[in-house]
Amino acid sequence: MYHKIETLNEKELKKYQLEQINKILSAVKHTPYYAGKLPEYIDSFDTFAKIPFLTKKDLRDAFPYGLLSCPKEKLVRISASSGMTGIPTLSYCSEYDLNEYTKNEMLHLSHTGLCKNDIIQCMMGFNLFTGGWGCYHGSIGLGATVIPSGPGNTQRQIELLKQLKARYCFSTPGYLQHLLGNISDKDWEQMNLKIAMTGGEPLTKEFQKLAKEKYDIEIYNFYGMTEFSTHIASECNLHNGLHINENYFYAEIVDPETGDILPDGEYGELILTNLKREAMPLIRYKTRDITRIIPDKCICGRTSRRIEPISHRLDDMLIINGVNIYPSQIEECIFKCFSSVTNYLIKINTKNAIKKLNIDIEIPDDIINNENKINKLKEKLIKTLKSYITITPALNFVPKHTLPEIQGKTKRVKYI
Ligand code: ADP
Ligand code: ZN
Repeated sequence: MYHKIETLNEKELKKYQLEQINKILSAVKHTPYYAGKLPEYIDSFDTFAKIPFLTKKDLRDAFPYGLLSCPKEKLVRISASSGMTGIPTLSYCSEYDLNEYTKNEMLHLSHTGLCKNDIIQCMMGFNLFTGGWGCYHGSIGLGATVIPSGPGNTQRQIELLKQLKARYCFSTPGYLQHLLGNISDKDWEQMNLKIAMTGGEPLTKEFQKLAKEKYDIEIYNFYGMTEFSTHIASECNLHNGLHINENYFYAEIVDPETGDILPDGEYGELILTNLKREAMPLIRYKTRDITRIIPDKCICGRTSRRIEPISHRLDDMLIINGVNIYPSQIEECIFKCFSSVTNYLIKINTKNAIKKLNIDIEIPDDIINNENKINKLKEKLIKTLKSYITITPALNFVPKHTLPEIQGKTKRVKYI
């Protein structure tokens, strides 16, 4: 069963979205940050495209309450981003927002088939960062049983999976990799884990494929961010892009340099606008995330627009001696060569103004002492990396549990 909004035709959808944008514009006219900056009414999306972008810096400048658009007494929760790229930014929500977020999460979770009879172990954080909360409220909204185990404490997670037999889990892709690499065959037999949802970080196609082939786990990619306090888009069972919930979000893709709107199909920066939000509506927010709108309709029957999985954020780019590299490209290569990796760390050091790329990779115990296998694997990985990123890094294979244990979001790059 699809939500009505997922099957509207383009004309109906556009009409609804324009109405919602106008409601938001009129609601924010007294918001300290927006006051005097925005039109009160727009007659078309062309006019909308003239509204200046809102950036993460604007959110920081508006700290703490500059973007508050309702009386403070209406707030029921304040969250903050995980601060991967600097000072955290706040996101506040009212009771209305929490109810709407719950409905939004229910829609995304229902893409995976999650329902009343299911158990879901949520290994995302339950803290300032909104990670686990969406899954928590949405799962309860669907009547499923949620185990809010939070990230980390891997042995305990494994015990819970064995004892309570969750069929679903939610985690970052990095933590899921770590978890799967630490489950023994014997433990595996006692589990019922079949479907994982991941979010918070790029999910590579290689890892998604490996999880299916090696563990028979179907991974659904969920995209969200603290600024919006909820998920924006998620995959349907065809795993062919992430459907945006267009009831709540209006999405545009722009050239990150010029700000010009790009046509569907072209890669650029994702710009998002809240269509229903009381405490902190964001208008034309620059996400720094690079993706594209997939031009055709999904064959699942939903008409909602899809974005390509986010492969990187603009801030993630590494420049190694003039070559632009994204950490997710390195991960793709690793999973092309290995069927089991628990963790990896990209290290960059500079000597005489030349940068050197080093990668530490945790590999299974049965390989670590086999010099022949190690050499073959190194050779294969170097070849793959060279064809992807044109650089030959220094590889260092280390035993499991050598690198700092992954908990939630992972800092994959370290400058040494
Ligand atoms: P920050 O990391 O900036 O502190 P958040 O913790 O809220 O903020 O993370 C939001 C960001 O995480 C997104 O802007 C995006 O870069 C990344 N992200 C979230 N979900 C995904 C996903 N499914 N694929 C790729 N990146 C994602
Ligand atoms: Zn679909």
